[in-house]
Amino acid sequence: MIEKIIKAVEEEKENLFSLMQKLIQIKSYSGEEKEIVEFIISKMKEFGFDEAYHDSFGNAIGKIGNGPIKIMYDAHIDTVKVTETENWVRPPFGGIIENGKIYGRGAVDEKPAMAGYLIAGKILKKYFNDDLPFTIYVVGSVLEEDADGYPLYHIIKNEGIKPDFVLLGEPTDLKVYRGQRGRMEIKITTTGKSAHGAHNQKGINAIYKMQPIISDIEKLDKKLNPKSPLGKGSITVSNVLSKAPSLCSVADFCEIHIDRRMTIGENKSSVINELKGIIKKHKIDAKVSIPKVEGRSWKGTEFSTEAYFPTWVFDEKHQLVEAALRASKKSIGKAKTGVWSFSTNGVATAGHFGIPTIGFAPGKEELSHSSKEELVLDDLAKATKFYSLFPFELTKK
Ligand SMILES: [Zn+2]
Repeated sequence: MIEKIIKAVEEEKENLFSLMQKLIQIKSYSGEEKEIVEFIISKMKEFGFDEAYHDSFGNAIGKIGNGPIKIMYDAHIDTVKVTETENWVRPPFGGIIENGKIYGRGAVDEKPAMAGYLIAGKILKKYFNDDLPFTIYVVGSVLEEDADGYPLYHIIKNEGIKPDFVLLGEPTDLKVYRGQRGRMEIKITTTGKSAHGAHNQKGINAIYKMQPIISDIEKLDKKLNPKSPLGKGSITVSNVLSKAPSLCSVADFCEIHIDRRMTIGENKSSVINELKGIIKKHKIDAKVSIPKVEGRSWKGTEFSTEAYFPTWVFDEKHQLVEAALRASKKSIGKAKTGVWSFSTNGVATAGHFGIPTIGFAPGKEELSHSSKEELVLDDLAKATKFYSLFPFELTKK
């Protein structure tokens, strides 16, 4: 089987690379994915997928096979914006190919996975269509950069698709990734009493009330302990807001915004309790809350979700991780595991629903969201071999 797959991918190489180029050339900022979704669906139809449509949120979904084991292949197809201050050597939407590499926004994060899934789907339908022991749902998810996890949460909750396993296409540099730190956002507010600046002793300054909390958060960050394989969590004050009747008055409102990354053993309640402990220690009347992430997809569907994205990790001996390592060894000749340092759609599939999830894709994670995004095209061909073989390894008896 592997010989047949390798030969098929080699024959499709030029199609694969021009598909990758086209995906970069279609600009697809979060919330503006209509054109790329329609392009992907047209390719799914052309390649003989059994179904191809967009769901009520606007995700592109294609189905291959009708076997009992359901595997979701997810690649988010939105990208972050190109800003004026970024310094691109080549045009970010040119899809320029030079010396075996392709350049542009999304060249790493994470259009290659979609190109690979589409060609792998084409190969599965063309050469292995009889009695597949699995069903693959290829998902081009939207708005991931704004709300990691939400597009897949929507599919599982509202679209009637319940995968047994999930493969994510975030960059892993051709390693099998098996987890990530979680993240959450928190707001803390203090209130005081305003007074004229000339009579400040009559007021209570909300900023001064916040001061010891900020100072303890800084100390807390240094005390967090690392846990293998995800490393240590972190806590950062990312914004401070205050209000006063005028700039010549005592501030009666202060709010800080916190970014918290969570390792193994850290979750919503442990993080909140930690902060409440600091507040209690200083005997301050401060409120702690988790803000909402809200938005609207290109289809006009509104969403609102708590800014809590749970940590997840699967053991190296997990059936899914082992199957992926076997498929990696056979298709590209090496097999290594790793974890992401950033957040992915796995916060929904693994973190929220507990569905076994891994990642495998070409490209270096650290190039994401930068003007240095580039991909070795041969690595894309390797990943495509993996995508074609992996479902057989996973469902092998
Ligand atoms: Zn990404």
